[in-house]
Amino acid sequence: MRFVRFETRTLPPQYGWLLDNALGPVEGDIFSEYRRLEASIPLEIARLLAPVAPGKIICVGRNYVEHAREQGVEPPDIPLLFLKPPSSVIGPGEAILLPPQSRQVEHEAELAVVIGRLGRWIPPEAALDYVFGYTVANDVTARDLQRRDGQWTRGKGFDTFCPLGPWIETDYDPYDNLITCRVNGEIRQMASTRDMIFPVQQLVAFASSVMTLEPGDVILTGTPAGIGPLLDGDEVAVDIEGIGELRNPVKADVRQLSV
Ligand code: MG
Repeated sequence: MRFVRFETRTLPPQYGWLLDNALGPVEGDIFSEYRRLEASIPLEIARLLAPVAPGKIICVGRNYVEHAREQGVEPPDIPLLFLKPPSSVIGPGEAILLPPQSRQVEHEAELAVVIGRLGRWIPPEAALDYVFGYTVANDVTARDLQRRDGQWTRGKGFDTFCPLGPWIETDYDPYDNLITCRVNGEIRQMASTRDMIFPVQQLVAFASSVMTLEPGDVILTGTPAGIGPLLDGDEVAVDIEGIGELRNPVKADVRQLSV
């Protein structure tokens, strides 16, 4: 099933579910008790929002061998974790803003895991029981700031640097699906999730050995090779086979640099 968050001219932001080209509201909490109402709202009159408002966004660096090599580093022997702030999340169609502090903002197309249950020290063999579903993410990165700072909070953490959507797919096998990133229609990244060094259940188990996973938390599973620049006026589209396509325009932030 596909869960969305949406709003219309007359309806406030809320969870919904998708049936072909129509939306139905969802009453209650999608992570525990909920009730689906009739799918009678045409998709074209709704604005889709980021499909989840995560408490935390756990990211995995260098989880594809070819991407590690293009960054000039060896693939890690344990998952390399970092965080993006919840304030970096935007939805489909919202603009990625290029911050004035950076001259090198890049796209990173990634499969995103949405956690559905509270868990700590989750064994790998039980990890998929804690997954609610999957969505598409773009781990937008100010590469120059990431390199300069040595740790990644600033380079990964700007507002608008975590597009998510267009929906959460709950019936999904994450092990061999194509991830494609196009900028202005031109293919930049294309690889299968099969090429991940650490697969989804290992990432969930590993992250839960560090911090408690909570419903709505999101894990970004790393990007394949082919990262490249985003410029003012571009449109970036990340497509994951079996889920859907996440499209965002790119705009320069008009704010002036003061610090
Ligand atoms: Mg990444």
